[in-house]
Amino acid sequence: MLRLYNTVTRKVEPFEPIEPGAVRLYTCGPTVYNYAHIGNLRTYVFEDVLKRVLRFCGYEVRHVMNVTDVGHLVSDADEGEDKMALGARREGKTVWEIAEYYWDAFRRDMERLHLIEPDVWCRATEHIEDQIELVRKLEENGYTYTIDDGVYFDTSKLPDYGKLAHMDLSQLQAGARVAMVEGKRNPTDFALWKFSPADQQRLMEWDSPWGVGFPGWHIECAAMAIKYLGERLDIHCGGVDHVNVHHSNEIAQAECALGHKWCNWWMHAEFLVMAAEDASGKMSKSSGEFLTLDKLTEAGYDPLAYRMLCLGAHYRQQLTFTWEALDGAQSALQRLRREALDLRAEHAAGDEPIERYMDEFREAAKDDLNMPRALSAAWRVLRDETAPAGDRYATLLEMDKVLGFGVEQWRPEPLPISEDEIQQRIEQRTEARKNKDFATADLIRDELLEIGIALEDTPEGTVWRKAEA
Ligand code: AMP
Ligand code: ZN
Repeated sequence: MLRLYNTVTRKVEPFEPIEPGAVRLYTCGPTVYNYAHIGNLRTYVFEDVLKRVLRFCGYEVRHVMNVTDVGHLVSDADEGEDKMALGARREGKTVWEIAEYYWDAFRRDMERLHLIEPDVWCRATEHIEDQIELVRKLEENGYTYTIDDGVYFDTSKLPDYGKLAHMDLSQLQAGARVAMVEGKRNPTDFALWKFSPADQQRLMEWDSPWGVGFPGWHIECAAMAIKYLGERLDIHCGGVDHVNVHHSNEIAQAECALGHKWCNWWMHAEFLVMAAEDASGKMSKSSGEFLTLDKLTEAGYDPLAYRMLCLGAHYRQQLTFTWEALDGAQSALQRLRREALDLRAEHAAGDEPIERYMDEFREAAKDDLNMPRALSAAWRVLRDETAPAGDRYATLLEMDKVLGFGVEQWRPEPLPISEDEIQQRIEQRTEARKNKDFATADLIRDELLEIGIALEDTPEGTVWRKAEA
């Protein structure tokens, strides 16, 4: 039985989808005004693991992810600058070009991290009508009010508002730190539709029954999730920062429009934090420098080393990023691939996954996606020399359906020169050493190292190996 932690109940519970055998999954997608940082990518890796585990358990998964390309404001509290306009100004492009560029960049990141694409991608700008329709429904049901700034959701009309966050509303009212928009009735109220400023044309704006403007951020996910997955959802995911505001507001909108419970499971990935760079350790796109997958590959890391790093920690534990930890993940990845390659050589048709290791792995995966434990089952099967190599390889391939390292497809980089040539160079070097021409001998060794071949002098003679990246 698959057991998953549910943020609503704060418990690990047996998972059961609404429709037997099929799971409707919605995950909040990227805001495409900049590259995703590796913190964002941690959340997407977690969602990918979830999806793979669901499939591994035999469920068919229908996965929808949105692309936030409407220019929302930099703070969750409906204030600050428009993110898309910020990106466009920074790069001297149109907001539409910015959205295309960063969505492409995001899909490239996904591919490099082996994240399976959603079945449906939906862009906020292509679903303005659906969002307006949802606001209209909320208006009809009596949950909205209009002020100078826009149409707002009145959270006081909903007795269980904030149930996901286990929010204490009286406390929130009393100690309201949240900056208030003029006319907003409660600190937790949020914009459903924002009006364009009277004296200025926004780069992105649309007509609506209430006036020209743009949708609030939270409405897009609710509108598109309902459109593509129907009125009842099995699982909705995101990072933990979305619990208090974004997801609480999504629930309020969807349930007040539909008139019933909307989503059964809410799952959230804990944050990736930077080792003591600033006091909060929080990585943020608006505060300058942040790490992207490109920065990791430019520094010589395999993108999948980052996947390995993420899988080494449980998704509900904070993960502290350090370059040392990434080094460790990279060498673990190399080891996994090389050992699998050795086993592959002995793999033949008819080899079977080894049940006791599969059981261990399955148990770990089904226990709220415990990837550190699942990985250790993979390491144990690699090490078990008492079992037939072919069966060990078959076991690893089965596990890799969840781990997603692509061990079956992996091939070592081809050598830049042939093995015969390497052998010739080694002989020339041995000859040079015999003649005490150490300069030539060293030159040959350095030239080979330059193209990734390391020499080692052993009592049996000089051997070569591929230098580790
Ligand atoms: P955003 O583009 O800001 O909506 O973020 C995309 C996803 O990344 C959301 O699900 C966030 O909750 C998540 N996220 C943001 N920062 C981090 C972080 N440091 N670690 C893990 N997930 C994060
Ligand atoms: Zn969302």
